[in-house]
Amino acid sequence: MRLRPESRPIDTNDFKEFGPFFPEAVLTEARIVRASMPNPGFYFLARLLGIEGVLEMSTIGAITLVDVIAYSERIDRSTLFHELVHVVQYRALGLRTFARLYVTGFLSGGGYAGIPLEHQAYELEERFRRNPKTGFSVENDVRERLQAGRL
Ligand SMILES: [Zn+2]
Repeated sequence: MRLRPESRPIDTNDFKEFGPFFPEAVLTEARIVRASMPNPGFYFLARLLGIEGVLEMSTIGAITLVDVIAYSERIDRSTLFHELVHVVQYRALGLRTFARLYVTGFLSGGGYAGIPLEHQAYELEERFRRNPKTGFSVENDVRERLQAGRL
């Protein structure tokens, strides 16, 4: 992927807002980039598993590859939160395991809704949206679900 050169760090306000939820290293290292790409992320993951071309995804608003968050139109704070959950997941699982779980979940669970990694990201995003001032550790949540075999 050639996204990093045009990417930017998380801006100061978001950085402060997300402090009670994410490790500082995640907020420091994550990069955001606006890019008009149909589905590069998913194809990238699928290619890793040798199933390139099998999956045709509908348009999506944003996608995260390791620590680069790409979005097509605009990205609001909740979506950014969601994508940062994926960054934490990548860090906990490693790229190959993340890709395997993501694609397996997609194929076995009826699309995006069946991907446990997405379940978690949507659930925590919702929790943040309801109580943006009540911090919790996304990293701990990821670790707990991983240990419980729920990812
Ligand atoms: Zn997601």
